[in-house]
Amino acid sequence: MKIRYNATQAASFEAEVPGVMDAFRFISYCDDVFGIPECGQCHAPKDELRLVHRRTKEGYDYHSVECKKCHYSFKFGVTQTNPPRLFPRTKDGWVEPYRGGNAKDASDNAPQQQQSQSAPSDSGEQIPW
Ligand SMILES: [Zn+2]
Repeated sequence: MKIRYNATQAASFEAEVPGVMDAFRFISYCDDVFGIPECGQCHAPKDELRLVHRRTKEGYDYHSVECKKCHYSFKFGVTQTNPPRLFPRTKDGWVEPYRGGNAKDASDNAPQQQQSQSAPSDSGEQIPW
């Protein structure tokens, strides 16, 4: 069966899956990453959120959803599985924008995963939600 997931205004994903259970898993995973309905800080609607991917010069990747209004963000971790998967860092919740300086902010930006050589280089790309 063919299924489609509308992730953002600009992007949808299609998958060919053998059955309902695979469709369920596909949609569940997409919802974990793209299903955030509103900003957790100011409650701006989904169309005020954007996906943000940043890559450090050392090759570390950061994935988050950022609110265009209050600039709080919700971060995703990366599993150590092959292939790696994003997962919502629900324990951290929505965090205030990084303003530099103190040790707490520095630890919030600790590397999550070393980037593999095969990944595309799209450093700093911001995708409209
Ligand atoms: Zn907000």
